[in-house]
Amino acid sequence: MARFSYVNRRYVQHSHAAVHIEDRGFQFADGVYEVIPIVNQRMIDPQQHLDRLESSLLEMNITMPASRRVLELIVDELIDRNGVFEGLVYMQVTRGVAPRDHKFPKGVQPAIVITTKRVRFLTQNNLSDGVKVITIPDIRWNRCDIKTVSLLPNCMGKTQAAAAGAYEAWQVDREGLVTEGTSSNAWIVTDDDKLLTRPVGHEILRGVTRQSLLRIADEEGLTIEEQAFSVEEAKAAREAFVSSATSFVTPVVSIDDTTIGDGTPGPLSRRLQGWYLDYCTGLKNLA
Ligand code: PLP
Repeated sequence: MARFSYVNRRYVQHSHAAVHIEDRGFQFADGVYEVIPIVNQRMIDPQQHLDRLESSLLEMNITMPASRRVLELIVDELIDRNGVFEGLVYMQVTRGVAPRDHKFPKGVQPAIVITTKRVRFLTQNNLSDGVKVITIPDIRWNRCDIKTVSLLPNCMGKTQAAAAGAYEAWQVDREGLVTEGTSSNAWIVTDDDKLLTRPVGHEILRGVTRQSLLRIADEEGLTIEEQAFSVEEAKAAREAFVSSATSFVTPVVSIDDTTIGDGTPGPLSRRLQGWYLDYCTGLKNLA
């Protein structure tokens, strides 16, 4: 079955999809993106992802390439054409095509690319048994809240993690506090059963999964503190996990070779994982 993508107002075969060589995303990483999970042929938290897309675009002074409703309809069409039951939507908007010049050009149409990918999260998820993370210095810029396609430090960190046999690298600021993973938010559970994750600000991405988990945890009566934690606190934690559109809730069983808890996914991480999956499959609704 041919796979379709959407490129600048046209559905095209994925194998033939291309953008212009002077697209500013290609030359300057002048663009933003979203990754949205698909479960049972529907997007999870589409409004929250579109909110974040709009705010990233606003921060970079790029106009929305189409209305939210039109973007949703395009994604639905791709899900349908590509027969995606479980998977991901990748949506990228760049400032558009212009002769190479650092200054933002005026009057340029933003360029848009949307792709879908099938991923067996629920049926073949080998992450749920727990993963290793390493810690690395956070060498990124000062606006990590903007979901820009400029991801080189993140790619370097993820490559370093993979070379160390780990799934993710937790980035650490100059004060020794964990900011976030290279493509996920970081969480720990303290000895007194408090759920800790760094507060949002310019240092981290406001993860959509993070926001939904906070709502779920709150409804379930867990004690939550949006508070930064150090590498030492993480290593001494009872449990740890990461959250993202691609890893949902993935327990962490070691940090820099220090075993977390008893080296298996902790009970609270497991419960959050279950509640989040129920939320994605529609078995759990939030008020
Ligand atoms: N932090 C970073 C740096 C990310 O790249 C991502 C996801 O790509 C996240 C956090 C998690 O965000 P979300 O839950 O919206 O996928």
